[in-house]
Amino acid sequence: MAETIFSEMSRLASEHDAINLGQGFPDTPGPREVVDAAVAAMHRGWNQYPPAVGIPSLRTAIADHQRRWYGLDVDPNGGVVVCSGASEALSSAMTSLLRPGDEVIALEPYYDLYAATAALLGARLVPVRIHAPDYALDGDALREAVTGRTRMILLNTPHNPTGAVLSTAELQQVADVAIAHDLVVLADEVYEHLVFDDERHVPIATLPGMFERTITVGSGGKTFSVTGWKIGWATGPADLVAGVLGVKQWFSFAAGTPLQHGIAAGLTLPDERLAALATDLARKRDLLTDGLRELGLEVFHSRATYFVTADVAPLGVTDSLEFCRSLPERVGVAAVPNQVFHASPEGVETQVRFACCKRDEILADALLRLRKL
Ligand code: PMP
Ligand code: GLN
Repeated sequence: MAETIFSEMSRLASEHDAINLGQGFPDTPGPREVVDAAVAAMHRGWNQYPPAVGIPSLRTAIADHQRRWYGLDVDPNGGVVVCSGASEALSSAMTSLLRPGDEVIALEPYYDLYAATAALLGARLVPVRIHAPDYALDGDALREAVTGRTRMILLNTPHNPTGAVLSTAELQQVADVAIAHDLVVLADEVYEHLVFDDERHVPIATLPGMFERTITVGSGGKTFSVTGWKIGWATGPADLVAGVLGVKQWFSFAAGTPLQHGIAAGLTLPDERLAALATDLARKRDLLTDGLRELGLEVFHSRATYFVTADVAPLGVTDSLEFCRSLPERVGVAAVPNQVFHASPEGVETQVRFACCKRDEILADALLRLRKL
C-alpha cells in the first residue's frame, strides 16, 4: 500500500526543515497531570502487559466520562475496550463486522484509514459527500447510498478535515437510516472535546434506539494533546465491543500500560481543563483563519478539530496535491491536500487542510512564510 499522506508530508517537512501544518499534532507537552501519572506508573514498575481489554482504572474512567459528559450508561466491564489509538479501535471494529463485498457508508471527505481498512477487508466504502462552505448532511444522498449490501455507517463528528459538527437533526437522519436498515454505526468521535464557540458535540449513541447499534470511538491522544501515545478506545453494547476486543487482541494484544495510567488521570481532570484546551485551540483557529484570509484565500469556517481548510485557487493553484508536495521546499511549510480524503478530487482540487494546533509564534511564522507565495 502507498505511504499515507501524513507520513509523506511529515517526511517532506523534516527533509526541508518546514513548519509542519500537515499531520495534525500539537507542539506542546500536554497536561502536566497526565504526563506525571504516566511517568509515575513507569517508576512504580507498571511496565508489563496490561489486560488486552485495558487496565481497570482506565476502563472505569472512560465509562465515567461517557456518563458524565453524555449521560451514556457504559459498562466498564464489557462495554469498553482500550486500543492502540483510535486507529486500532476503528480498524478492529471494521474487521469484526465487515466481510468481503459488504458496503460501509462514510461522509466524504473521510479520514484515510476508513478506505484503506475497507480495501484490506474486501469491503466497499460508499462516500456521501458533504460540501463547503457549511458541510451540511444531505439526508437524501445518505438514504440513496444504502443498498442490500450496506452493513455499517462510519460517522465522523466532529469531522476531520472540515471541522464540521453534526447537529442533532442531522444525527437523527443518520439514526433513522441505521434503524430502518438495521445497520451498525461506527462513530469516530476522536475530536469530541476539540469543539469551538457555541458548538456542542452530541454522540449519536445518545439518540433513541442507537446505543445498542453504535460503537463509539475516542482518543486519549487527541483529547489530551499526546497524539504519540496512541491510547484510544471503543465503547458500546457488550456484543459489539466483544467483537472489537476479539479482533484487537490479534492486532496489538494491548497498548502501553503506563500511558493508559496517564490517560486515566487525564479523564479524571476537572471538566474545565478540557474546556480550556478547546478555548485555546479556537483562538489558534482564528489566528490561522484570519492569517490565511489576509493572504487572499477563501477559508471555510472550522467549528472543531485541529484543522482549517482553505481554497488556494487565488494563488494560481490547480492541483492541491502537487501544491502540497512542493510547498515544504518552496516556502518551508507543510499542509495536506483535501483531495486525499475523497474518492474523486472533483470539486476539491484546490482545497488544502492546515493544522492550527501549534504555538502562536509558529503559526505566525508559517503565515509569514506563506506570504512568499
Ligand atoms: N479518526 C480521525 C478522524 C482522526 O483524525 C484520527 C487521527 N488521529 C484518528 C481517528 C486516529 O486517532 P489515534 O491517533 O488515536 O489513532
Ligand atoms: N489524524 C491525523 C491527521 O488527520 C493523522 C494521524 C496519522 O498520521 N495517522 O492529521
